[in-house]
Amino acid sequence: MSNSGTPSDFIRDAVREDLESGRFDRVQTRFPPEPNAYLHIGHAKAILVDFGVAKDFGGTFKLRFDDTNPVKEDQEFVDAIIDDTHWLLAEPGNVWDGQALFGSDHFEQMYLYAVELIKKGKAYVCDLSPEEMRANRGTLTRPGTPCENRERPVEDNLDLFDRMRNGEFEDGACTLRAKIDMASPNINLRDPVMYRIRRAHHHRQGSKWCIYPSYDWAHGLEDSLEGTTHSLCTLEYEDHRPLYDWFLDELGIYHPRQIEFSRLNLTHTVMSKRKFVELVEGGHVTGYDDPRMPTLAGLRRRGYSSGAVREFCRRAGVSKSDQTMEMYQLEDCVREDLNRRANRVMGVLDPIKVIITNVSHEVEWLEAVNNPEDPAAGVRQVPMTKEIFIDADDFRADPPPKYHRLSPGTEVRLRYGYVMKCEQVVYNPDGLIKELLCKIDPETKGANPSDGRKIKATIHWVSAVHAIECEARLYDHLFVDPDPDRPNGRARESGTYLDSLNPNSHTSVRALVEPSVQDAKTGDTFQFERIGYFCVDPDTRPGAIVFNRIVTLRDTWAKIEKKSNA
Ligand code: ATP
Ligand code: MG
Repeated sequence: MSNSGTPSDFIRDAVREDLESGRFDRVQTRFPPEPNAYLHIGHAKAILVDFGVAKDFGGTFKLRFDDTNPVKEDQEFVDAIIDDTHWLLAEPGNVWDGQALFGSDHFEQMYLYAVELIKKGKAYVCDLSPEEMRANRGTLTRPGTPCENRERPVEDNLDLFDRMRNGEFEDGACTLRAKIDMASPNINLRDPVMYRIRRAHHHRQGSKWCIYPSYDWAHGLEDSLEGTTHSLCTLEYEDHRPLYDWFLDELGIYHPRQIEFSRLNLTHTVMSKRKFVELVEGGHVTGYDDPRMPTLAGLRRRGYSSGAVREFCRRAGVSKSDQTMEMYQLEDCVREDLNRRANRVMGVLDPIKVIITNVSHEVEWLEAVNNPEDPAAGVRQVPMTKEIFIDADDFRADPPPKYHRLSPGTEVRLRYGYVMKCEQVVYNPDGLIKELLCKIDPETKGANPSDGRKIKATIHWVSAVHAIECEARLYDHLFVDPDPDRPNGRARESGTYLDSLNPNSHTSVRALVEPSVQDAKTGDTFQFERIGYFCVDPDTRPGAIVFNRIVTLRDTWAKIEKKSNA
């Protein structure tokens, strides 16, 4: 097999060696989620590592559920994980057949393997309670204590295990344990549990089983039974590898190679299933797909494309050292992607009314470029009327030095329109601005006419007659601290990560947006010129568009001001 052109990292180097040495003659990877939560961006990295290695070596990728714990698992999570994986991989090609595999489909075979180990004297039924077992397990410095069940005769173990399966014992009454080494320095090898009695409904097996395999017993068997060649996983499984090896070697069955890499962490968020549950159930977010969540469902709803997430994970790379990526690195990928793809529109988030005193026509349609990065996106017409709105932030009645946007007596360019001068500020009795009276220069029409005038700022605006009122949801980091568990880089003395929640992570405003967005569909993305990127949220109803701010623009003023002077 030729692998020329395959990029290099320690995983790919190992895979390449395995192919060259003949240890494997093909490559098969898998992503093995437990269907007990939604996927997050760390999982995206794991999926992309698995998928990428399979793809680079002309192999195959599988999505395989490690569905051994019916108490925590749910069909909702299975469906969401499959959907998110399709979204992330976008075009699986011939690397992934798009199907999901389920570890639970091997329960019968796992049971037979367990019987085999019992017959070999390598597994026994143990009557200890979970607490007793924990106490007997020892610690890093103290070896475990073997229990008396350890020496049960094989015949008794076979009989008891059969009765466990047949439902003769109460939940938790006994377990099947591997007989390895109670003094092993690796605690995972101190006679780990292989089966527990648990009467629970399984999302695929229904009530067929009342004993369920432990994760550690099932995981390696699933990889083996499926013909996985390279079991890629995160570093916390390094200490479990000797156990997976022990099971496979004792059974004498096909043996994949496990390679570990570091987990992906991201600043200003948390990446733990338990915390996701707390955030959702505590009402701190609106659901697993809240646009502030680092779940793939949340990122999707926020308006991040899978291409941006793939690029972010590519930049993160694979290594064995701790990895914390900054939120801005993710946002940069999102901006770069949207800059290429998103059509531009004008929208005003904090409107001030402007009356253009020298306009008398009802409406003038001005041509606007949809996407300067993509000529194929074409042009549209935006309506200009005597009354328009501009953003409050683009006007100062009393401008500070070097303020280039609108102020009494100064000129700005209206994007796609004319140079406009502010002649008078009209106040309400309460002292707030009622409206601005302005004049345009009819000789200055167009995006960038070479009229030789030095206009320092171009501002966005919308027609007061044609603009559509929408809800704009403005999102910011969910947590104030880069590491919510360690504010200021130190372990918390009191409280929890929840104390670091950003009280301003979601605000909602009434925005006025140009009419071209009126037929926008859920998921459509736009750049609101000079403000940021927005996408249409599924909460949108006919006549009531809801936009999510995906990400703000960087260097807003610098860029636009440079352009309008070019
Ligand atoms: P749990 O604590 O419930 O096991 P988990 O995040 O490990 O949580 P799994 O469903 O077991 O969830 O994860 C599936 C795979 O995703 C595992 O192989 C794991 O190595 C990988 N993974 C989980 N979190 C990250 C992360 N932050 N970065 C990279 N890979 C991850
Ligand atoms: Mg896990």
